[in-house]
Amino acid sequence: MISVRIAAKVFGATPVLGDVAFDVAPGEVVTVLGPSGIGKSTLLRIVAGIDRDFAGAVTRPERLTMVFQEPMLLPWRTAAENLTLVHPGLSRAGAMEALAQVGIADKADLFPRQLSLGQQRRVALARAFAGAPQALILDEPFASLDPATADEMLALTERLIAGARPATLFVTHAEAEARRLASRVLRLAGRPATIATNGGGA
Ligand code: ADP
Ligand code: MG
Repeated sequence: MISVRIAAKVFGATPVLGDVAFDVAPGEVVTVLGPSGIGKSTLLRIVAGIDRDFAGAVTRPERLTMVFQEPMLLPWRTAAENLTLVHPGLSRAGAMEALAQVGIADKADLFPRQLSLGQQRRVALARAFAGAPQALILDEPFASLDPATADEMLALTERLIAGARPATLFVTHAEAEARRLASRVLRLAGRPATIATNGGGA
């Protein structure tokens, strides 16, 4: 369970987030929609525990993982090594299985620069799920992919979530993505941003 009770977040004198309160249950996908610059990534960083400079309280499970817009792979490590380095308990066989789940087992020994952006994103997804996350945070992970690849990635993410059932917080500015993946859609609006609509399941 992720539990968010933010009262305020400011950058210097600029208020970015106001009252933002919601929970995400295990297996549930909550999507946060809102225009660029509204505070979505700021919210995710607070939820992930990367940013602790805010008023309020957030509780989250121990095994939490994030997937960003950039795949953020280590360039001098192979796809398989990008998984095993992040998860010290993960064997080569475990990494291969995780890569197979995202359809790129045959790329295990290639370096990120030898992979397409779509394939790099698959590695990033495999890395996230290889840790059996209890909480998953996705920050616009399908941005700047062509529509067919974005759609494939979305289907893949849906399957992985259905298997691992983490509490998932998914940020996007794409309405269609939000509706497809979400059990619940939250809309950030205003300055400081608050939740404008809480509801509207997919
Ligand atoms: P979104 O992800 O919705 O596009 P962000 O959360 O990245 O928006 O940013 C929300 C607002 O906070 C923006 O106005 C941005 O300029 C500002 N902001 C984000 N990070 C910082 C920072 N480290 N310092 C100052 N302002 C920031
Ligand atoms: Mg952002």
